[in-house]
Amino acid sequence: MRVTVAKALGTCFGVQDAIDLALDEAYRGELTVIGQLVHNPQTVERLRQNGVQIVDQIDSQDIRTRNVMITAHGAPESLRHRAEDKGFRVIDASCPLVLRVHKAVAELVRGGFHPVVIGQAEHVEVKGIVGDLKDYTVIRDESEIHKLKGRPKIGIVCQTTQQIDFVSRLVDLIRSTYPASQVEFRDTVCKPTKDRQVAVRELAREVDLMVVIGGYNSSNTKKLKLVCDELGVKAFHVERASQLTPEMFHGHEHVGITAGTSTPHEVIEEVYYAILNMPGVDKEACSGLPEREKNLY
Ligand code: SF4
Repeated sequence: MRVTVAKALGTCFGVQDAIDLALDEAYRGELTVIGQLVHNPQTVERLRQNGVQIVDQIDSQDIRTRNVMITAHGAPESLRHRAEDKGFRVIDASCPLVLRVHKAVAELVRGGFHPVVIGQAEHVEVKGIVGDLKDYTVIRDESEIHKLKGRPKIGIVCQTTQQIDFVSRLVDLIRSTYPASQVEFRDTVCKPTKDRQVAVRELAREVDLMVVIGGYNSSNTKKLKLVCDELGVKAFHVERASQLTPEMFHGHEHVGITAGTSTPHEVIEEVYYAILNMPGVDKEACSGLPEREKNLY
């Protein structure tokens, strides 16, 4: 059996920079993170062990520190002002690629378009995008397109971790359902997400088993598993190396490894070496781990 690691996988630079900043700040003084910094149990545990407090919202009575952090997923401007009004020092770890979505929405609104976000309404990133808008629509899938009836100008962006194929199909459907409306679309799926989607598709065509690593609450990890399911490749979604057993690999010749944008590289390494130590692995034929992604923005 041989093992190949996807060309792009694991923690994106946006989340990694935010984690590094949180650990740095926690080292200098106390810090509370507003909302989930990353959907991964090991990273959340590591932050907690380093004294970082995590709360759901800025109005929480549990905040005991002066420093509060906005996560990589961003937040509405009003949240920052509310935090400052309460006397907090705000540390902003918003990813530049999330801020690009905020900017795109502001431009569409200035152009007279009704802002539409393709994504999950309950996700912190989407809440940050629409939080200061008076009138907007969030669309999860085709069943919600009816919400756009009667809108003459529709301006669409998407959550950065959406699948671009899915988003493009939805935009086409909106255009064909409302031919009289002017529809403007800004592709705001981020590059690290696209790179991971392309890499998993490429690798899934080569292997007969895929191991997808990431938190069970990470939506982009689940989407990577979904890609394998769509391509008919058997895939296991695991959170940690201890979940692997030799039986999982029995009868397979070529195993692929991928991981969501919230999965720490340390966890990927653990899983990679655990698979390499399974019986019957030809280590000489296995790929190494790719270089970690850097922030180029
Ligand atoms: S998934 Fe993309 S937009 Fe979100 S934090 Fe990572 S790089 Fe930034």
